[in-house]
Amino acid sequence: MKVLVINCGSSSLKYQLIDSDSKEALAVGICERIGLEMGVLKHTPVGQDRVVVEAKMDNHEVAVSMVINALTNKDHGVIKELSEIDAVGHRVVHGGEKFASSVIITDEVVNAIEECNDLAPLHNPANLIGIRACQNLMKDVPMVAVFDTAFHQTIPAKAFLYGLPKEYYEKYKIRKYGFHGTSHSFVSARMAEFCGLDINNSKIIVCHLGNGASITAVENGKSVDTSMGFTPLSGLIMGTRSGDIDPSIIEFIANKENKNLDEIMHLLNKESGIAGMSGVSSDFRDINDAMDAGNEQARIAFEVFVYRVVKYIGGFVASMNGVDAIAFTAGVGENDPLVRSDVCKYLSYLGITIDEEVNDVKSKEIMISTPDSKVKVAIIPTNEELAIARETVKLI
Ligand code: ADP
Repeated sequence: MKVLVINCGSSSLKYQLIDSDSKEALAVGICERIGLEMGVLKHTPVGQDRVVVEAKMDNHEVAVSMVINALTNKDHGVIKELSEIDAVGHRVVHGGEKFASSVIITDEVVNAIEECNDLAPLHNPANLIGIRACQNLMKDVPMVAVFDTAFHQTIPAKAFLYGLPKEYYEKYKIRKYGFHGTSHSFVSARMAEFCGLDINNSKIIVCHLGNGASITAVENGKSVDTSMGFTPLSGLIMGTRSGDIDPSIIEFIANKENKNLDEIMHLLNKESGIAGMSGVSSDFRDINDAMDAGNEQARIAFEVFVYRVVKYIGGFVASMNGVDAIAFTAGVGENDPLVRSDVCKYLSYLGITIDEEVNDVKSKEIMISTPDSKVKVAIIPTNEELAIARETVKLI
């Protein structure tokens, strides 16, 4: 089956056409600057050169029609006609407590996603715009919504509640939701398979370390705790997000710097984390280069990042009363040997040892722990688009 996977943002739309039988992407691309003066479509038929088309895209429907044209184009297309697309899988950021799994999109589902807009005001409305644009242009094609939050709906109340008066959960559903669920689900399942573990009798910790980063404790195949919370701002230090901070810092900065709430949220989401701490960049490649050049701030930012990862792993080992396997994934987790190595050094108390030579690798599915390590540690490249395509095929 051929599944079009759509990840729609407010001014961008990423897509992949995936052949679910071969598990390969046939084409990948992105529409950028939708609704602005001049937009651009970057389309890559896999194994061929990238095609760049500049055109004004007034709205997401125009963008989707450009994607369809690119996919069916006689020169750089990968299918002959639209009818070859069997289904569309949409990434939706927030399913609140309404969605604990992926669903076929119906009018009721669209309404329920809309009811979650409050919880993800930047993302869900954009996801819905993408869904409606596709529905208008591909009327008879079944569509599925795959939620970032769904995998974490198994987290128990003792782990998802905050220490706030109970009315705030009852009235507004303020609680931990967790994100990156599609990746954590995909990687934990693959990790169990890769290590020869029975997923129904396993304790796995997945470290999804990308620009956005989160760690999840997966017990018997189910998410039981995760580092992101009500929003993706909490937990680990990230590229530009602060991760956990004492909430009183917000009031303190407001008073000292005369900033309003919007400005402070911008500071915490966009100007903090590795970028803000190092003053160098949010990208770990730049941080590694700066550390090599002797930049002290870059080194400290790196150390704080690693330390926070270690504390979350330690916390989840305690809450699960053990761990069988730890997986590293996403941009940093897959590509930065020093992060993996430094994290694992802290974990020697668990009997973890890794083979530094094997660990010196990028983006490859590989076991990096030594055969005598008490806990298996591996790199498992994530593939959220393939996971969305699989979910879509499963449902239709
Ligand atoms: P997201 O999906 O959250 O945007 P990714 O998972 O794609 O993020 O990760 C992107 C990040 O991965 C980059 O910002 C960079 O820090 C890191 N990264 C990518 N390649 C490398 C590399 N070769 N070495 C170290 N870090 C890398």
